Amino acid sequence: MTTSTTFLGLGAMGSALAAAALDAGRPAVVWNRTPHRAQALGARGATVAPTVADAVTAAPVIVVCLFDHESVRGVLDPVTAELSGRTVINLTTTTPAESRSLAAWAAAHGVTYLDGAIMAVPEMIGAPGAAILYSGSGAAFDEHRALRDVWGDSSFVGADAGMASLQDMAMLAGMYTMFAGFLHGAAMVHAAGVPATEFVTRQAPFLAAMAGQLAGFAATVDAEDYTGEGQQSLRFTETALATLLRATAEQGVDPAVLAPVHDLVVRQIAAGHGEHGTARIFEEIRRTR
Ligand code: NDP
Repeated sequence: MTTSTTFLGLGAMGSALAAAALDAGRPAVVWNRTPHRAQALGARGATVAPTVADAVTAAPVIVVCLFDHESVRGVLDPVTAELSGRTVINLTTTTPAESRSLAAWAAAHGVTYLDGAIMAVPEMIGAPGAAILYSGSGAAFDEHRALRDVWGDSSFVGADAGMASLQDMAMLAGMYTMFAGFLHGAAMVHAAGVPATEFVTRQAPFLAAMAGQLAGFAATVDAEDYTGEGQQSLRFTETALATLLRATAEQGVDPAVLAPVHDLVVRQIAAGHGEHGTARIFEEIRRTR
């Protein structure tokens, strides 16, 4: 018989993870700070644990999906002794340093630690398209494949427990700036009475096509050679962005999203790289660590 899995945290995501396990016929023990949120899963066959200690001691694998790093420490610290010898799979969103500190804490207390970053919304869990990045204990990743598979596609990105979080954060940086860029454009056309629902029919396929450029940028950055054929120069990009900023002003739109991109280009030109490719703004960004 399949061993039980314990789930700590039954918010939107924690509930989806536990429900997917139950749907796959896997026994689940669930706990939530606010007890009534466990009722729906209890009705579907999960064992509802009254305390964190009861939940932790009921299974060898503890899946944690809480609000943030602080809530994870707040819940796990009091049951450190009970966790010894068990595996924690932490799917809470944390920074890389926070993940590493949890891994160090786990190692100091005989707890096997696997960190995860969920690249999906709760409705996608268990459905095609859901993906989770993992890092930390490779042995735990291998051992719990059947559990991982009920949630979605899995990738192991390294023994450094912070790596899944780092890759997650890096991808979200691209996502949020893309969203902001779309909304900037939507504000520009909105000022002329064009609905965003019409604008998106042009913008979405254009952005999808432009995503094809990313591999070229990546190769340029890895080679640290911004002089190659076919690269759009910083000087050209500066002219384009300056025109875009004037158009933004004409529409009465706030330049807050676009102006920093222009600023990065201007700084690299001022440093003497105007004829180099636009990917060179990578050098401006990475030096600000
Ligand atoms: P919710 O806000 O729906 O749930 C938060 C959970 O954390 C609840 O179970 C809540 O308990 C618990 N919690 C909060 N603070 C504490 C505390 N101090 N002590 C104990 N329990 C606490 O969030 P989600 O379920 O959506 O998200 C959970 C994690 O999953 C987050 O780290 C999020 O970033 C990550 N994630 C979520 C995604 C999403 O689309 N929702 C996508 C990818 C990752 P209570 O019910 O008592 O308030």
